[in-house]
Amino acid sequence: MKRKIAVLGATGSIGKSTLDVIAANQDDFEIILLSAHQDTRGLLSLGTQLPSAKLVITDHQKWEGQTPETRSVITYWGQDGLVQAIKESGADIVVNGIAGAAGLLPSITALETGADLALANKETIVMAGPLVASIAKKNHCRILPVDSEHSAVFHLLEAHGADAVEEVILTASGGPFRQYSREQLEQVSLQDALNHPTWKMGGKITIDSASLANKGLEVIEAVRLFSLKVDQVSVLVHPQSYVHSLIRLKDGSLYAQISKPDMRVPIHNALFWPEVRYCQFGRLDLVGQSLHFEQPKTDLFPLLPLAYEAARLGEGYPTAYNAANEEAVAAFMKGHISFVDIGRIVAQVLEKEWSCDELDLQSILDVDQRSRAAAQECIKELHH
Ligand code: MG
Repeated sequence: MKRKIAVLGATGSIGKSTLDVIAANQDDFEIILLSAHQDTRGLLSLGTQLPSAKLVITDHQKWEGQTPETRSVITYWGQDGLVQAIKESGADIVVNGIAGAAGLLPSITALETGADLALANKETIVMAGPLVASIAKKNHCRILPVDSEHSAVFHLLEAHGADAVEEVILTASGGPFRQYSREQLEQVSLQDALNHPTWKMGGKITIDSASLANKGLEVIEAVRLFSLKVDQVSVLVHPQSYVHSLIRLKDGSLYAQISKPDMRVPIHNALFWPEVRYCQFGRLDLVGQSLHFEQPKTDLFPLLPLAYEAARLGEGYPTAYNAANEEAVAAFMKGHISFVDIGRIVAQVLEKEWSCDELDLQSILDVDQRSRAAAQECIKELHH
């Protein structure tokens, strides 16, 4: 029987890659729900090809502005509409490709319905790792990482057993500013930051890759997703983006997952898990290739060491790190602050108190709100 798939963030880069994987495996999967935030036209065009799928626009105002005809096709709207559509969909697997903290509630809803969660939204784990793990356990469903590094680690841990592992090494492309000096970093424009050398992704994550905040979020994600100690997770810059991550076993051996940088590989692996099936995407011929590795420059890219600090402090700190960074990146994209201000703002927000005894949803959302407000204060001071 075909497995029923819901694709959240269907018009974004994860969504498009997911639709490619499903198009290549039509005997195995069927799409029953598609959501987008604002791209009504893109969603409608996908809906024409899949007339039985439920369609959701999560931006309430965007939906309000549509013609009655469009609204009769896109029958769910807003965050509440997405939650309701997931509950009614009967999905076996929910692919969450939503960008940012907005992905948390849909992840929780998916797990509560008993669906497996193919997760590209790292904020879900950064903000609420222990909470979503317990919801998944209670409902007997799996969290299948789609982030390329975590997909690699997930499959490596599965192959070798978590007990044998000493260290997890996440690779980073290093982004477009890998070889920049401090002076050059102070001058970078939005256009420079949006120009990623190896991956084609949305704006926010591309800027996070340039600042290494994306790798910072991934360190926290790895700690919380795989129940690792912070010191067990390290980062290695690897500009080719062929090695997606490595594990070092207690005997000293390194094992890596290697393929071209193509998100369809981790998506394929998540959708077919636990089976290993033929995949036409991302195949790499190693002949003539050279693989380079170097240390990340933590003095020039403070968002990486700040993420380690947030991971060590735990509790509400990872949520505050993420929220402050989201606000700062949005301000950078509007031209209100400079690229290097992003790190300054996150550092200032993390100096405040973000302990919380219980990591339930309400406390997490409360930290999220308060840390965004704190970030806005810093942005106001920097934006003249
Ligand atoms: Mg990644």
